[in-house]
Amino acid sequence: MFKKILIANRGEIACRVAATARRLGVRTVAVYSEADADAKHVAFCDEAVAIGQAAPKDSYLRWERILQAARDTGAEAVHPGYGFLSENEAFAQACADAGIVFIGPRPDSIQAMGLKAESKRLMESAGVPLVPGYHGADQDPALLRREADRIGYPVLIKASAGGGGKGMRVVEAGADFEAALASCQREARNSFGDDAVLIEKYVQRPRHIEIQVFGDTHGEVVHLFERDCSVQRRHQKVLEESPAPGLTEALRQRMGAAAVAAAKAVNYVGAGTVEFIVEQVAYDQPEAMNFYFMEMNTRLQVEHPVTEAVTGLDLVEWQLRVASGEPLPLRQDQIQRRGHAIEARICAENPDNQFLPSTGTLRVYRKPQAAAFQVAEVRFDDGVREGDEISPYYDSMIAKLIVRGDDRQQALARLDAALAQTRIVGLATNVQFLRKVLSTDSFAGARLDTALITREQAVLFADSWVTLERALAAAVAQAYLADVETTAQQGWVDPFARVDGFQPFGPNQRRWLWRAGENTVVTTLTTGTHAMLAVGDRPAQAWSATRSGDDLDIVWGTQRFKAQVHVWGEQAHVFLPEGARVVERVDELAHAGDSGEAAGQLTAPMPGKVLSFAVKVGDDVKAGQAVAVMEAMKMEHTLHAPADGVVAELLYAPGDQVTEGAELLRLDR
Ligand code: ADP
Ligand code: ADP
Ligand code: MG
Repeated sequence: MFKKILIANRGEIACRVAATARRLGVRTVAVYSEADADAKHVAFCDEAVAIGQAAPKDSYLRWERILQAARDTGAEAVHPGYGFLSENEAFAQACADAGIVFIGPRPDSIQAMGLKAESKRLMESAGVPLVPGYHGADQDPALLRREADRIGYPVLIKASAGGGGKGMRVVEAGADFEAALASCQREARNSFGDDAVLIEKYVQRPRHIEIQVFGDTHGEVVHLFERDCSVQRRHQKVLEESPAPGLTEALRQRMGAAAVAAAKAVNYVGAGTVEFIVEQVAYDQPEAMNFYFMEMNTRLQVEHPVTEAVTGLDLVEWQLRVASGEPLPLRQDQIQRRGHAIEARICAENPDNQFLPSTGTLRVYRKPQAAAFQVAEVRFDDGVREGDEISPYYDSMIAKLIVRGDDRQQALARLDAALAQTRIVGLATNVQFLRKVLSTDSFAGARLDTALITREQAVLFADSWVTLERALAAAVAQAYLADVETTAQQGWVDPFARVDGFQPFGPNQRRWLWRAGENTVVTTLTTGTHAMLAVGDRPAQAWSATRSGDDLDIVWGTQRFKAQVHVWGEQAHVFLPEGARVVERVDELAHAGDSGEAAGQLTAPMPGKVLSFAVKVGDDVKAGQAVAVMEAMKMEHTLHAPADGVVAELLYAPGDQVTEGAELLRLDR
C-alpha cells in the first residue's frame, strides 16, 4: 500500500478520497486554487500545495504543476477524483513517465473509451449491444442528415467528446436537424475543443442503468451490480439508486456480463462504469426491456456511494489496493448486495428557474444527523462548511446524501426525512425539489425514465407545501423569542416581554407584517396568561413556543409541530417537517416603495462567462428572442430578449466573465 498520495481534485470527492486514505494509514496531499485556499479539502488533508488561480484551466487542470507537487511532496500516487483530469490520458501517461502511479486505468483504456464514437466501434466488435445509430468518422452534414432520416426520428445528436450531459440535442423531426446539429457542434467545440458528433435513435421511455465494474492488474474484472440514474434534468443525474427497480434477474445478469466484456475489451484496471440506456416498451413489462451501451466512464463516479451502501464495500479502498498492485479483494461470487440505497445530489441551483446554478455564501448549513435515525445508514458527503462560499468557478454540487434501507420504500422514507433535516440558507438549492420528486407518483411507484421530471412538472413546480399560516406561526415564534432573548441579554427585564406572560395592565400585543410572494399578512400575538396568535383573517388561537438549540416546539390551536427558523436580513427561512418556505418581514415604518427595476434590460441571471451574442448593434429583436448564450458552472444558458427593441450596445464581449445582474446589452425601444 502507498504511504502518501496526492489528490488532484477539490470539493466533496477530495474529502471522500482523503477519508479512506486516512483510515488506511495513507498520508494525503491536497492541491488547491486561490479560490479554495480555505476550503475543507485543504484542511482535511495532511499537507497542501497551491497550484494557481481559480479557473480550472489555471489550477486543477494544470497537470505539470500537479505532477511537480507530487514530486515535491514525495507522493507515490495521484488520485484524480472525477471531472478535471480523471479521464485525461495524457495526464495518466505523464504520471507513468514520472514514476508516479495514476490511480485509475491505463492511458490506452482511457483513450479507447474517451470518444463516444470510437468506443462504440470498439464495443460493436466486442459484441456489446449498441443503440441503433451512426458513429462514423465522416462528418459531412448532408450525410449526417441522411443517417438521421434513416435511423428515424426522434434522434439524439451527441458530441463524441461530450460528457456531463453537455453537447446533446434531441431532434424531433427532420426539419429541425440542421439547426440542432449546428448548435450541438458549437457547444462541442466550445466545451471539448472537438465538434465531431454521433447520432443515435432516441429510445422510448429511456432509463439510464449503469454497471459498476472493477478490474485489477492481474487481468481479473468483476461487476458490483447496477445503479439506476434515470431521474435527470438537463441529461444530468438527480437521484441514483440500487437495485434498479423492476429489473429482472435475467436482464441484470446479461447487463453485468456485457459490462464485464466491455471492460475486458480495453484491459480495464480500477473503478469504471459502463452506462447503458434501457428501452422500456411499457412501464409494467420488465420482460420487454432492451439495453444498449451508451458510454464508459473510466473513473470513480459521483454516485459510487450507492454501490458502497448496498455492498458494504469501500470503492476508494479497492482503487488504492488495485493501484498498488494487489488483486481484487473479492471474486464475483463473493460480492453480495443487501437492501436498497439511494443518493440525492444537493446542488446550488434554482429548480423554479430552469435549474440555473446559484452562488453565494452558506450562511446556514445544517446536515441531517445520522444519530436521529438510530441507524448508521444516513451518509452525507460534502466538501464545504457553514460560512463557505459556493463560487461560480466549479461544479454546482454542494453535497450528496446517501441512505440505505431494507427495501426501496424504507430507503425513500429515510431519504425524505434526512432531506427535511438538510437546512441551507444563503443561496438557492434543490433540497425541497428533491423531496417533491420523491413524493411523485412516478417516482414512488418506480415508473422511471429520463422524462420523469418533465412528466411530473405539475407537482414538482407547484407552490410550496408549507401552508403560509403554519410558516407564519413559526416565524412569529422566532421573532418573539429573539426579542425576549435580546431583552434578557440587555439585563433589563421588560415585564411585557416575559415569556410567562406577566401582565400588570392587561394583555400585551405585538404585531408583525409579513410578505410571502403576492401575499401580505398581519400576525398579531397577544401575550398574557394565555398567548394567542392571529394570522391574517384567521381568528386568534392559543399559541406557545419554546426553543431548544435551533429547534422550536410550537403549539398553535390543535396543532403541535417542530420548526427551525433562520433569519437572514429581512427573510425568515422557515423549515417545517413538510417542507421549507421563506417569508419576509416588512418594516411597517419604512417606506413601502417598490424597487424600480428598469424593464427591458437584459441582465445576467447568474455569474458566469458570456459565450456569444446572437444579435449585433442595430438589430431589431422581439421579446423572447434568443439573444445571448452564457456559461456558468459548466452549463450553457440561452438568454432571451426581455422586450421588443433595437440593440443599441453590446456591453460585453464573448469570453468576458460577468457578475450576477450585470447588464449584457442595451435595447432601445
Ligand atoms: P456522467 O454524467 O459523465 O455520466 P457523473 O454523473 O458521475 O458522470 O458526473 C458528471 C460530470 O460532472 C463528471 O464527468 C464530472 O466531470 C463533473 N463533475 C461533477 N461534480 C464535479 C466536481 N465537484 N468537480 C469537478 N467536476 C465535477
Ligand atoms: P454524458 O457523457 O454527457 O454522460 P451520455 O451518453 O452518458 O452522455 O448520455 C447522458 C444522458 O442522456 C443519459 O443518461 C440519458 O438520459 C440520455 N441519453 C443518452 N443517449 C440516449 C438515447 N439514445 N436515447 C435516449 N436518451 C439518451
Ligand atoms: Mg454519461
